[in-house]
Amino acid sequence: MLHTSPAQNQRYKSLTSAIWVLLIAAILATAVLTQRSLSRLADSREVITHSLLVNKALNDVMNLMLDAETGQRGFLLSGRAPYLQPYYTALAQMRQARTALRSALSEDPSALAPLDVLDKAIAVKLQDLDRAVSLKSEGHSSEAVESILTDSSNQTMNAVRAAVRGLGADQVRRTNQLQAEIEQEIRSYYLILGVSILANLLLLVGLVQRFRKAAIQRDAAQQEADTRNVELSRLLAAAATRNAQVQGLSELSRFLQSCADLKEAAGLLKQHLPPLMRAASGALYLAAAEQDSLCQSFTWGDKTFVEFFEPGECWAGRLRQPFRQPFETGTASCAHLQSAYASAHNNNNIQCLPLLAYGELLGIVVLEADVASDPQEGLEMEGSRRFALEQVGLSIGNLKLRESLRQAAIRDVLTGLYNRRFFDESSQRELVRALREQAKGGYAGLALMMIDIDHFKRFNDQHGHEVGDQVLREVAQVLQSHTRGNDVAARYGGEEFTIVLADISDQLALERAQRVRQEVEQLVLHPSGKDVGTITISIGLSQFPTHGNTVDALLLAADKALYEAKSAGRNQVVVAG
Ligand code: GH3
Ligand code: MG
Ligand code: MG
Repeated sequence: MLHTSPAQNQRYKSLTSAIWVLLIAAILATAVLTQRSLSRLADSREVITHSLLVNKALNDVMNLMLDAETGQRGFLLSGRAPYLQPYYTALAQMRQARTALRSALSEDPSALAPLDVLDKAIAVKLQDLDRAVSLKSEGHSSEAVESILTDSSNQTMNAVRAAVRGLGADQVRRTNQLQAEIEQEIRSYYLILGVSILANLLLLVGLVQRFRKAAIQRDAAQQEADTRNVELSRLLAAAATRNAQVQGLSELSRFLQSCADLKEAAGLLKQHLPPLMRAASGALYLAAAEQDSLCQSFTWGDKTFVEFFEPGECWAGRLRQPFRQPFETGTASCAHLQSAYASAHNNNNIQCLPLLAYGELLGIVVLEADVASDPQEGLEMEGSRRFALEQVGLSIGNLKLRESLRQAAIRDVLTGLYNRRFFDESSQRELVRALREQAKGGYAGLALMMIDIDHFKRFNDQHGHEVGDQVLREVAQVLQSHTRGNDVAARYGGEEFTIVLADISDQLALERAQRVRQEVEQLVLHPSGKDVGTITISIGLSQFPTHGNTVDALLLAADKALYEAKSAGRNQVVVAG
């Protein structure tokens, strides 16, 4: 990751600026040093040129002196005037040569004294030469020749020579010294220049490195930003899908809340569950009331699934968690899928997902989905399925809870028949409907049986309360088996029961009552191996509209008929009079 803090950024910028400043300073220093060393090189050349000039001037002076002496001697020895020509030319040029020499040495204060010595020597020598020429011209030839043959004449010339040589040597020494100084200086410049160029290079390399690093960091940051953008888009898309799913789910939950029973809920799920599962084929199994089997509620797609199976036949049912069929053995691991997937392979994505609420297994969803190409997408899909089933499970769990609470409120705990409260409500409702249907015409009638177990007290007294309860349950089961559709069998209280039969003729109602009585009579009970004897019931039967238009009237009539049945010897049906 290439996240840099603002402080790091600031430090990076300051360092880069510092390198820039140093680099500019180093470049300037290099330029100045180069200029300096070039100028010293020029100085060195000038020193040499100057030294050559001085040398030439000294040579000129010396040569002119010799020319003058040679011309003078020629004239003195031959007496011929043309010999004086070079003498005078040398004298004339001597002035220029001496001026040139003085000007060449003008900047060297140490040369002033030797120059004066030379000047004096030249002046003395020129006076010597001039005196001899004058003597010769005036006719004193022998004196003139004698004067040039003296030691003094030789000495004056030697003095000039010595002065010229001395100046020349001084000049060479001075030139050498200057040269050495300049060379030393240039060498130092070269050294510093080398260091400065090296510094330039290092700083330049440092700067380039920083730029390259910055460019790499920029590229990496860009790449990271791109990846982040892609990831962000994916997350947004996933969030949108999830949002839609949550919305769909909350709607489905609301619908499920308003369902009256599981059957209605299953109808809703058939419509809404397949899109939520995002699978080509699938089936929903719901736990049957007895909990020992899972019954197919509906399927979708082109696969066929078994009608029902036991929870133990499914790994999701056993483990209470989603289970993907591994197909390592070539067939499904769950027994209930083995007929549908007799031969399958590992890329079949077949899953069993439990539908749970409060730890109770409410059902199982089996589905065959495409294998997601992107593992992340696959995980999200499974997460979303799990979430959807959690919600659906809770809704169904609530529905079942509501249903069981409702049942608890309207059922008699001992016998499982409706209780007195439910009987009161439903019999009123049935009578209202009967009145309405009768008004329309073609309504057969409504029958009300009041049933009482004969000598029930005896079961309690002889065999105990437990046996009494069992008798009540057995009789209730017979009564239940004779009700259908809108019929209602209820425990009225104690060992008394009622049955309301809807849309039934007097004759048929009587036949049904007789059948119920006969069936009870045939009950055989052997609690703990004991024979409790025959169980019989007495039934009073009243009819709407024959015996009344209200529930109370019908109850009263049936009760009277029951009392008559008891009086007439029990185990019989009496129709209200
Ligand atoms: P008859 O043939 O005249 O109806 O006689 P009977 O013994 O059935 O009538 P009775 O009304 O004298 O007795 C009813 C008994 O039923 C009294 C009561 O103890 C018993 N009983 C009422 N409710 C229950 C119950 O829930 N369980 C059991 N074991 N007994 C009950
Ligand atoms: Mg009774
Ligand atoms: Mg009784």
